[in-house]
Amino acid sequence: YRSNNPDRDQPTLQVPASPREIHDLGQAFNDLLVTQNQRLQRERQFISDASHELRTPIAAIRGNLSLIRRRGTAHPEVIPESLGFIDEESLRMQHLIENLLHLSRADRAQLQLTDQDLSFIALQLGEHYQPSLTQPLNLDVEPNVHVAGNGEMIQQIIVALLDNAHKYSPADQPITLSVHQTATQVTLAVADCGEGIPADQRQAIFQRFYRVDQSRSQAVEGSGLGLAIVQQLVHLNQAKIMVSANQPQGSRFTVTWQRPATK
Ligand code: ADP
Repeated sequence: YRSNNPDRDQPTLQVPASPREIHDLGQAFNDLLVTQNQRLQRERQFISDASHELRTPIAAIRGNLSLIRRRGTAHPEVIPESLGFIDEESLRMQHLIENLLHLSRADRAQLQLTDQDLSFIALQLGEHYQPSLTQPLNLDVEPNVHVAGNGEMIQQIIVALLDNAHKYSPADQPITLSVHQTATQVTLAVADCGEGIPADQRQAIFQRFYRVDQSRSQAVEGSGLGLAIVQQLVHLNQAKIMVSANQPQGSRFTVTWQRPATK
């Protein structure tokens, strides 16, 4: 058999490769395998975490259904409480699934970044959300700060950070939303006066399902997915996010865009 394609019968390696080239090729192949392996492991971990999180509300729902079945006829007074539980837990599952969908969409998203007036977005959202926060909200927003990004995602980032500041800080302590720029970068920050996040857990909170000190977070509704979503959205907007301590107390989440060098 001879192929009609003249290139096909040509030997692909015309020059004998040097030991160095063979070594480099082997190394590149190994690196590829390692990253693919890591990705696979991360995906497996994600599926196992997600299943674990979904199992809890399902168990609660099934437990309460069984209670109604066993005792509902003789003791109808158990029914409203159990139904309330089922309602709550199914809502929790719904939120969880919506968040998981957000994450997988953000994984695949490829987007066009366009000019966004960050000052305008922050001021508008701040004013919009102020009434739903129990804390006073300070807006420290420099006018006319622009970034290349996706407006909807930037809004989602700000809302999620405000929501966390609201959840994890006392009602009478202020939250600050700020937007600033220097010659080289633009920063958007949300700072609160809550308990803060221990330095050794500041990386981990961006992982899916991670919550600081289960017992502390237990009192607050949440699945540990919010910041994982925020991090992906920040990444898609070609920005970076970090968390530091707010002075004298609390957390400060800072999103940073590098400004393109002006010619
Ligand atoms: P969730 O709030 O649903 O638990 P997140 O991914 O938004 O999930 O946050 C992960 C964890 O990080 C929270 O459970 C909480 O322990 C911690 N955290 C997030 N934001 C703050 C904050 N502003 N102050 C203190 N802790 C925070």
